Amino acid sequence: MSHRIIRILEKKLSRKTWDNWFTTLEIKEITGDKVIFQVGNLFVKDWLQSRYGKVIHRAIHEALGKDLDFEIVYESPSKEVFESDEYKGPLVKKKPLILSELNPEYTFENFVVGTENRALFEISQEICRKPGKFNPFFIFGGVGLGKTHLLQAIAHRVLELFPEKKVLYITSEQFMNDMIDAIKSGSIRDFRYQYRKKADVLLIDDVQFLIGKEGTQRELFHTFNELHDAGKQIVICSDRTPDELNGFPDRLVSRFQMGMVMEILPPSLETRYEIAKRLARRESINLADDVAMELAHRIDGNLRRLRGAIIKLIVQSSMYKEKIDLSFTRQIISSFQTDITGVKPLTDVDRLLKAIEKVLGVSREEIKGTSRTKNVVKARQLFIYMLKQEYGKSVQEIAEIVGKKHSTVIHSVKQISKSILKDNKYIKGLVAKINNTVSTDFAAS
Ligand code: ADP
Ligand code: MG
Repeated sequence: MSHRIIRILEKKLSRKTWDNWFTTLEIKEITGDKVIFQVGNLFVKDWLQSRYGKVIHRAIHEALGKDLDFEIVYESPSKEVFESDEYKGPLVKKKPLILSELNPEYTFENFVVGTENRALFEISQEICRKPGKFNPFFIFGGVGLGKTHLLQAIAHRVLELFPEKKVLYITSEQFMNDMIDAIKSGSIRDFRYQYRKKADVLLIDDVQFLIGKEGTQRELFHTFNELHDAGKQIVICSDRTPDELNGFPDRLVSRFQMGMVMEILPPSLETRYEIAKRLARRESINLADDVAMELAHRIDGNLRRLRGAIIKLIVQSSMYKEKIDLSFTRQIISSFQTDITGVKPLTDVDRLLKAIEKVLGVSREEIKGTSRTKNVVKARQLFIYMLKQEYGKSVQEIAEIVGKKHSTVIHSVKQISKSILKDNKYIKGLVAKINNTVSTDFAAS
């Protein structure tokens, strides 16, 4: 039976608050002048102290009939419940435990590394050798750059090196759905057990999905803290940096930042060439060098498109009994231009990028990357603005072209429009210069 103070607290608080914050709260001691509580998590301790002091005071008053001070101390949680062999959570499987499906193709062996992502690749492997060393490991970067591939490569490798470790790969969407199901079926305890106690390595994909989903963020926060406190490795992927996760609680963001944060960069031309070959080999096809080079030239950045193009080549070549040579490849790529899953018409986009590079000295990689240096940000905003205003592209199309979220596109257009409305000569001059460069330098191409 819990102490009266605890029972009163439980009554005073909403179910949600209770479940989120108070379930590990226990009375450690009541002395002449204060009540000492203990909790199983350092961050919960801070949180309770800063947010729930008043209600805790009131509960003490009601329970004991006097106003005592209180203190919260951290003590690692009592282990009996969770570590007893008796406990048979429904989701616990025999080891080696992969609590999630992994794509067998997403391995380090299949991951082509160019110089742009060499360091990321090395650190990812180091994490596998020494889980917990860089904790958490936060990888961010645009769509189709290989985040999921890398995350699963880590999962595969950890399982190879440490077959006894329980590795849990999950998208944050799955995490949320699991949580909702658990709440509905009254098995939130099993859910927490599975995530917080069972994973030795937790890999969470696409964490930006949880923007605006506060309940799930909170659950994730607890899961994170508990695993992190226990020294369990956490790896997180996102399409943006931790501090761009709008609406995520600061505490969660700063916890994401406390380990190693690394960007996955768009592959260079040479890397794309290698990846084209590798992707084809994954489908048991050998691409000729000139074909791979053509693909690498024509399809930049998003490797899902590159993969889409290769699959299309393979399918079409078998359909039309054509050899996959350069001319067939060109034909397929241009037939893609109306295909939303395929390659966008790159011609005007390419010219615009080249013009911006010439005028502002910012490369296409930088524009499509995530650098926040002033010059790059300006170039990116101009690029986006011009695609919208001068080339009539939709926000959706632009988001795909630059590999940024819609809100970024909208924001960029607004920023530049504002400057132009305010008659900012510098910005107006840049737009004119870029337009000029497009029409003079690249008219013939
Ligand atoms: P993201 O999760 O960043 O959107 P994915 O991991 O889904 O990207 O990658 C898209 C596709 O490109 C996958 O088929 C993946 O195997 C492939 N891919 C990505 N990066 C590489 C790489 N460096 N080497 C080989 N294949 C890659
Ligand atoms: Mg992904």
